[in-house]
Amino acid sequence: MEVEPLYQLTATCPACQHEFRTSRIRPKFKEVSHMDSDFCPHYVKEDLNPDYYVVQVCNQCGCASTEHAKKTWSEQDLAMFKEQVSAHFQPRDYGGERTIGQAIETYKLALLTAQSIRESKRVIAGLLHHIAWLYRYQGTREHEERYLRFALDAYQEVYEKDSGEVNDARLIYMMGELHRRLGEFNEAAMHFSRLIHDKRIMDAAMIRAAREQWAEMREQMQQLKLAVPEGLFEEKKFKI
Ligand SMILES: [Zn+2]
Repeated sequence: MEVEPLYQLTATCPACQHEFRTSRIRPKFKEVSHMDSDFCPHYVKEDLNPDYYVVQVCNQCGCASTEHAKKTWSEQDLAMFKEQVSAHFQPRDYGGERTIGQAIETYKLALLTAQSIRESKRVIAGLLHHIAWLYRYQGTREHEERYLRFALDAYQEVYEKDSGEVNDARLIYMMGELHRRLGEFNEAAMHFSRLIHDKRIMDAAMIRAAREQWAEMREQMQQLKLAVPEGLFEEKKFKI
């Protein structure tokens, strides 16, 4: 018997306790063909993208969450969610197969839910970045860039406010890479340079990625006939 790529499971809504069905893609169908430089995965079977099914949505109240979401809500979270999200939600079912358009809707509901219950900035940044990826799959560049900008701003806030560790290499890399993708080469260079030269940063994979994207950026700047300033990447020239 042939196995269907999608399977259904039941979830309980953290807001209204209603039980609803949601779908997932079976692991054996999740074959990654390649990964973009900001870690956006591309799958061998484009229409079977596991990312479309990451967000589970309660069909009664619109509460939308991923596995990273808060599990227990305070009274205040619930009141804010009701006022800001569920009061405006028309019951609808996202439990079956999803188109990319529906996947985008589920992520936007997850973003609204997360904002209403004051999720951590890190979770919100991740949602914004995923929405940018969905627009990338769809080929709508303008929307992709809008959400990359939102994600970058959110990552910056995480870096300034919540990042306890100096060595948050992945976060620094991500900020550099999103600046590069948005054409902000000087800002990108500052972040890549920091990863390459700051002796306290030990994450070899992120240092290598920063070197590769720095090379990519030099090419990009040459193509755009922008001068690559001498000494831009010199050691300790930039501090962030
Ligand atoms: Zn619900």
